[in-house]
Amino acid sequence: MPTCIIVGASRGIGLEFVRQLLARGDRVIATARGVAQASQLWSLAGKATYGACTILPCDVTVEESIDSFVREVKNLPDLTRIDYVVLNAGVLKYPNRATEISFDDFAYHLHTNTIGPIITAQRLLQTSIPIGTIMFMSSDSGSTAQFREFEDGFAAYAASKAALNQMLRHMASELRRKQNSTIILAMHPGEVSTDMANVSLDWDVEGIITPAESVAGMLRVIPTKRTAHSGTFWTWEGKEYPW
Ligand code: NDP
Repeated sequence: MPTCIIVGASRGIGLEFVRQLLARGDRVIATARGVAQASQLWSLAGKATYGACTILPCDVTVEESIDSFVREVKNLPDLTRIDYVVLNAGVLKYPNRATEISFDDFAYHLHTNTIGPIITAQRLLQTSIPIGTIMFMSSDSGSTAQFREFEDGFAAYAASKAALNQMLRHMASELRRKQNSTIILAMHPGEVSTDMANVSLDWDVEGIITPAESVAGMLRVIPTKRTAHSGTFWTWEGKEYPW
């Protein structure tokens, strides 16, 4: 049975990952910032086979919280391998324009969307547990090759995902040099109807998909990737995306 870690699983896309992974019989380690408040996650865990879903606290903006989460993972019984890690936690405070954003709001995007996921992956890699694939939830907004003029109000969000992309490419390259076979991927989940999209997207945007469609697509794409694909960027539909 594959073991998967989903970081940022209280709602939205992360919660849907937990739902689909448990439904197919995987062992899932899911995190929430506020474990006590994560009622939808507890409800999924309650319906799962006993022991299949472990819920742990993790706030990716707090180093001690990341370290404590990684210690708890190391102490879990019978954990000899982690097949997939999904670094899904992310924030978008809309609007976040370059000409207007405050110092703190810019830092907020960078802490949650860039530094937190990268450090969480780094600390998991520093355990002796072998990891198959680490997938970072990026965004088409983070592509510098496809600058989207119309995306007004997304500057800090886009910058935080672009920085995430660049860090994960370095992570992939460093791991390759160390002959570590963990596959590092960036993923665009589509334009997905979640709380985040609700506050920022015009609902006339074409092609909005449900979390269920997005996650089903990503779960088809991720296992097709091999070590040679480490440091590449994909969409939920399996198309390679330009950096
Ligand atoms: P939601 O706002 O619905 O969910 C965000 C998740 O991230 C929640 O579980 C939230 O937990 C968690 N989170 C936020 N801050 C932290 C933190 N400091 N530490 C740990 N967890 C945290 O967003 P989506 O489900 O839409 O987004 C998921 C990911 O997909 C994000 O990285 C987003 O940038 C990316 N994405 C989404 C798109 C979309 O169209 N929806 C498009 C492109 C990318 P809590 O409940 O505690 O707040």
